[in-house]
Amino acid sequence: MSIKVGIPRALLYYYFYPQWLSFFQHLGVEPVVSHKTTRGLLEKGLRSTVDEACLPVKLAVGHVLDLKDRVDYLFLPRMVSMARREYICPKFLGFPDMVRNTIDNLPPVIDINLDLYRRGSNTYTFYQALGKIFTKNPARIYLAYRASCQALGEYCKQLESGLLPGELKTLCSNGNNGMADVTIAVIGHPYNIYDRFISMDMIKRLSESGVNVVTADHLAESVIRREAGKLPKQLFWTLNQRMIGAAYRYFNEPEIHGLIHVASFGCGPDSMTGELIERFARSRSTKPLLVLTLDEHTGEAGMVTRLEAFLDMVRWRRNLADVAVTL
Ligand code: SF4
Repeated sequence: MSIKVGIPRALLYYYFYPQWLSFFQHLGVEPVVSHKTTRGLLEKGLRSTVDEACLPVKLAVGHVLDLKDRVDYLFLPRMVSMARREYICPKFLGFPDMVRNTIDNLPPVIDINLDLYRRGSNTYTFYQALGKIFTKNPARIYLAYRASCQALGEYCKQLESGLLPGELKTLCSNGNNGMADVTIAVIGHPYNIYDRFISMDMIKRLSESGVNVVTADHLAESVIRREAGKLPKQLFWTLNQRMIGAAYRYFNEPEIHGLIHVASFGCGPDSMTGELIERFARSRSTKPLLVLTLDEHTGEAGMVTRLEAFLDMVRWRRNLADVAVTL
């Protein structure tokens, strides 16, 4: 029977799961992903986490609880830095410790550091240490690593071509069979906007309302970095830098009709990112911006009403612009 490694369907799962799945499978290890988010799963996480934690972390704890009794290992990499001279939010860094200290009877936790902050650091070191847990054969680890990088590369290309991650992948950005009449950029952390429960299926709702949805992941990394580089000072949080870069780009793209910034209640980096996006919207753009903050109490009815009102305004503005062009 193969060894089972549990991967929570949370946090950076939405960026890295093709790479993690490929790596484990090439080593003959069975990756087990937690179930899709449900109210019950979130509530388990809420009961086991401190109140001060942000919603995505509480939810990630729920996913750990969902996995812990059916796997041999839990894969909770300690994400310190994903790029040189940048950091990930400290809550990622402390996540494995938070889990160990709040949940009893855990299987062994794999919490290897991924830290690319310094020159000379690389992802292979991370995968080498991970592979050694399951095999003594360095060539096998290397080949698994190569295959996993290829899987990640293909995934990134698919995203750039308009596909969405995970369960949303059928709703590509240019979907709706060409029937969409507006395009909206949804800017937020991947674990908020791509989790259908937490986001209250926002992307699908928009898509069904005749909207083409684009996200930061549909832009090339080089474009995001160039746009984020317009800030007077570089943001050192990688995910928030992605959000800023994408928002700046989409504010300037004529085919984008409006932006939605999705923030998490209790997220320090989001409060700063939100302020920067709103300032840009006020001073350098005429495009409508909707800010939605998610927490465990966010009601679906309120969110739907705000989305509908926002879409009405976006369409009204677009029609006004069309009239102005034809005059
Ligand atoms: S960036 Fe914000 S939402 Fe994400 S883990 Fe950190 S505090 Fe939570």
